[in-house]
Amino acid sequence: MAVSATLAAHQVVEERRRAGLPVLPMSFGQAGVPVHPLLAEALAAAAGRTAYGPVAGDPALREAAAGYWTRRGLPTDPEQVLCGPGSKALLYASLLAVDGDVLLPRPSWVSYAQQVALLGRSPVLLPTRPGEGGVVDPDTVRPGARAMVLTLPDNPTGRLATPATVRAVCAAAREHDLVMISDEIYRDLVYADEFVSPAELAPERTIVTTGLSKSLALGGWRIGVARFPAGPLLDTALSVASELWSCPAVPVQAAAALAFSEPPALRSYVDSARRLYEKVNIEVANRFAAAGADVATPQAAFYSYPDLAPHRALLADRHDVHTGAGLAELLLSRHGVAVLPGVEFGEPASSLRVRVATGQLTGETDAQRREALAAADPLALPWLAAALDQLTNALTTVLR
Ligand code: PLP
Repeated sequence: MAVSATLAAHQVVEERRRAGLPVLPMSFGQAGVPVHPLLAEALAAAAGRTAYGPVAGDPALREAAAGYWTRRGLPTDPEQVLCGPGSKALLYASLLAVDGDVLLPRPSWVSYAQQVALLGRSPVLLPTRPGEGGVVDPDTVRPGARAMVLTLPDNPTGRLATPATVRAVCAAAREHDLVMISDEIYRDLVYADEFVSPAELAPERTIVTTGLSKSLALGGWRIGVARFPAGPLLDTALSVASELWSCPAVPVQAAAALAFSEPPALRSYVDSARRLYEKVNIEVANRFAAAGADVATPQAAFYSYPDLAPHRALLADRHDVHTGAGLAELLLSRHGVAVLPGVEFGEPASSLRVRVATGQLTGETDAQRREALAAADPLALPWLAAALDQLTNALTTVLR
């Protein structure tokens, strides 16, 4: 198995940067705001907590996470919460807890299919409804599988499945007795749309995962939480946790407990980050649209998923490009524009869709990111304006 595609592209970007070549780092789903000082203080204050903690997580974090979900219309007992070193590890423990085939949307985040493969099973990729993302088309669900992963809102498409789709897929999950694993790590970065979790509609069969990597930009802190229905799934995931990570880093859990308790300062920080991401992300999608790509306006976080298929003939004739990987390579090697081809998300190699991650465009330094967060018009800041220019230049040069 190769290194995760996202991490591999990130490495190429770093190499180009070190070589002094221009880069537009849009391949990696890294959020782009500095650590909030309250969280840095909470982490430092807990540095002396050097002993292992309980496998399921620190009671304070489990309680705070239960409160987080309860405030979002999902009444949660702290006993239902399992904490882990990032939601990725919790997704793996959840998949392991469910025996059998797993339905995934096509496209979907790189790691689901790879994790299913690590478990020695085959993912079953099903289409999403046109224009949506993150949830399989409920009409395509057939008997035989045991679980299905949903991404609400979605990476790579930046789209949020409609409440009607979520309702219909919950009905299909009941009909076929499927466990739903709902990855809601971007939930707090939905710009405006109504959010419905499958855990509200089918709580008996839904595992929800989330974390602080995106909304609070703490990916490197490695902390995530999962909400399980009471019963055997949680027990199995707990034994996986006990054998794989023992407990998440205890000082990080202390800071995470503060984060999930959502004091007003952190709430407004997440609000500002969301507004910043929205402006940058929608502008980048608009630049792709202006260059002739088909792209659905993103509804959340920092991703869009333009399709360059309208330029297929031109790309083939002028650049000998016939695949998404070829297109991504062309954009990176000629213009330093790093994006990931759709093939990484389960699309056919010939797909000319690319996943564009805009979280890192907010700034290269914490000072720039703070300025971007505070700016009334962040797109006018010199580094953001330059990034957008570089993108437009690259697209117009390649597609001319
Ligand atoms: N789920 C999705 C859809 C993601 O995009 C990511 C990170 O890119 C993760 C989960 C992993 O998050 P964590 O840092 O909590 O492991």
